[in-house]
Amino acid sequence: MEYVKLNNGVRMPMVGFGVFEIPMEQTARCVYDALEAGYRLIDTAQAYYNEEQVGEGIQQAMQSLAIRREDVFITTKVWVTEFGYEKTKASVRDSLQKLKTDYLDLVLIHQCLSDYYSAYRALEELYDEGLIRAIGISNFSAERMADIATFNRIVPAVNQVETHLFWQQYYLHEWMDKYNIQHEAWGPLAQHRLDEIIKHPIVSTIAKAHGKSPAQIALKQLVQRGIVVIPKSTHKERMEENLAILDFELTVDEMTQLKELDENRSMWAEYDDPMIVQYAMS
Ligand code: NDP
Repeated sequence: MEYVKLNNGVRMPMVGFGVFEIPMEQTARCVYDALEAGYRLIDTAQAYYNEEQVGEGIQQAMQSLAIRREDVFITTKVWVTEFGYEKTKASVRDSLQKLKTDYLDLVLIHQCLSDYYSAYRALEELYDEGLIRAIGISNFSAERMADIATFNRIVPAVNQVETHLFWQQYYLHEWMDKYNIQHEAWGPLAQHRLDEIIKHPIVSTIAKAHGKSPAQIALKQLVQRGIVVIPKSTHKERMEENLAILDFELTVDEMTQLKELDENRSMWAEYDDPMIVQYAMS
């Protein structure tokens, strides 16, 4: 596994496993399979309603695979309904219980909505108490990210945002570098648009040249840019495939060709559309 050092010195794996929309009854098994395959970062969220199952999968892996708690980097995210100083603190304590752990490696403010400033202050205090090893944000634009980084005591360690071949986020990435905030990609396989990646002639040609799959090329382009990826799959062979991207390098020319696929827009929402607020609360 490759690691990146966050702005507070904590080590974070470059490739992790996402558990959004995995059916609840399969979640513990998928987390176990992922850890057995070699993943050491699990990304969940309060809003996924599967923290308990994630905790079970991790416990099972710790018992059967001789994996220690300190070997696994666990991320969760505080949902919008839990924002507010006291509420956020209580919700993180609840997440700790569900995940069956006494500390979390990374806790993110899930959306840049509602009273996220109070939520962030609560995370700063939980960080001081040692319950969280790093705090961060998710779905923050460059302008909102700069604001929270400037007017708080602790600069976020991570901003997790939609990033894939069709939205490569070069502008936001530049600002993350300026604030020393780690870029983490959600939807790194472009979710339902993965089919377009698989069929894309440029991606296929590059994949063939390296004896890799188009999905691996999509993930590799991000990791080679220094971006952490957290692909999701319910299939163990795909989990293994998505992890097997650290043994080759894309050439400068291949990176340039892949950059051409950037449409510079989200695959699912206009982030400045007020409808997104309604969606978040639905
Ligand atoms: P991904 O881009 O990871 O795509 C997942 C899809 O790709 C699934 O349909 C999966 O199918 C399929 N797939 C995975 N690997 C392969 C492969 N090698 N070949 C073919 N198909 C494959 O989408 P996600 O939305 O799940 O994003 C990843 C993670 O990011 C989430 O699980 C979550 O943890 C996080 N996230 C965070 C958000 C935020 O707001 N912060 C928002 C959305 C996601 P199958 O399962 O059948 O294999």
